[in-house]
Amino acid sequence: MTNNNIGQMEPWFDTSEEQAVAAYLKSGGWITEFKITEELEKVIAGYLDVKYCVMTTNGTVSLILALLALDIQAGDEVLVPNLTMIATPNAAALLKIKPVLVDIEKDTLCMDLQKAREAITSKTKAIIYVALNGRSGDMNALLEFAKKNRLLLIEDAAQAFGSCHNGKYLGTFGNIGSFSFSTQKVISTGQGGALVTNNRKFYKKLKKLKDFGRIKGGIDTHNTWGWNFKFTDLQAVIGIEQMKKLPTRLKRKKEIYQRYKHALEHISNIEFIDTNLADISPWFIDIYVKNPDRLCAYLGKQHIGTRRIYPPLSKQKIYRDSWRDKKFPISVRYSHQGIWLPSSAALSNREIDTVIAAIKKFYFQND
Ligand SMILES: *Cc1c(COP(=O)(O)O)cnc(C)c1O
Repeated sequence: MTNNNIGQMEPWFDTSEEQAVAAYLKSGGWITEFKITEELEKVIAGYLDVKYCVMTTNGTVSLILALLALDIQAGDEVLVPNLTMIATPNAAALLKIKPVLVDIEKDTLCMDLQKAREAITSKTKAIIYVALNGRSGDMNALLEFAKKNRLLLIEDAAQAFGSCHNGKYLGTFGNIGSFSFSTQKVISTGQGGALVTNNRKFYKKLKKLKDFGRIKGGIDTHNTWGWNFKFTDLQAVIGIEQMKKLPTRLKRKKEIYQRYKHALEHISNIEFIDTNLADISPWFIDIYVKNPDRLCAYLGKQHIGTRRIYPPLSKQKIYRDSWRDKKFPISVRYSHQGIWLPSSAALSNREIDTVIAAIKKFYFQND
């Protein structure tokens, strides 16, 4: 970097994407979804060790497609954690499916199954389980919970591409897993989403849903509903290059997390969530502090970018009226205290140490 700005997150594309895109354009490709998208789908399915992958426009649309493929209907309810990106509940809301907010557990910041049980009604059809920042609870307990309560399981693993539970990739436990490749995510195609499943029926449905319900590509016979949620080969070219970089990025994210944690965890004002780095590559570096706005402002003055973690859904304008009477103590607390520190996989150790030094200084001065 040529200036002293350290962004909270930076996109990371280089000559390999540049050359691949140039070569693709020269080849006379049609840009729209075709063979290269198929190739990317195979690469992703192979990486995650699942049977099927379907690319789509983004990680919000992928959730909508998952709900449609699982035949969840208007008026049905789905369980959603109260601390997540707004796309998770909004995907359901677009289909007039009611997102039922559930508090999180403090050890993982993911949905609390005890609370989930209390939220089930006769209308509950599915869980959208969010692996927030690459972490998850016990996925086998979650599967058992879903089975026992006859709920379908969608994994919103948008922040967990490449993270695991006991060595098995998140996104591959449920009926359908959903990923995002927006610029913020671990790897990116600018916009982009992927769905994965081992179920052939769901796979076939997803393919039709995203291509006008055509019985086959290029044939204008439609025997089911469908729309256009296709990807593009131009993005797939970038995706294939990004997939080659995924292992080093995941490794680097772990190193960065470890470096911050090692330097800061002894400061009593700062809380880290216990993170098993053998399985988890945190998407962002998240810390929890009592005075997040002051710390962010202090770092901002030194050109260090931070971002506050999401407000709880129950306090967002579009949801708060419906949830006014319910308490979500854990998500409210962690949302209130959460900060995302500079987290780009492209950060140098020197940059990380600059951030660490600034945080230490903040707490020294204010003690
Ligand atoms: C980013 C994200 C999404 C939405 O993905 P887009 O590709 O931006 O639409 C959904 N859920 C979670 C948890 C996310 O982090």
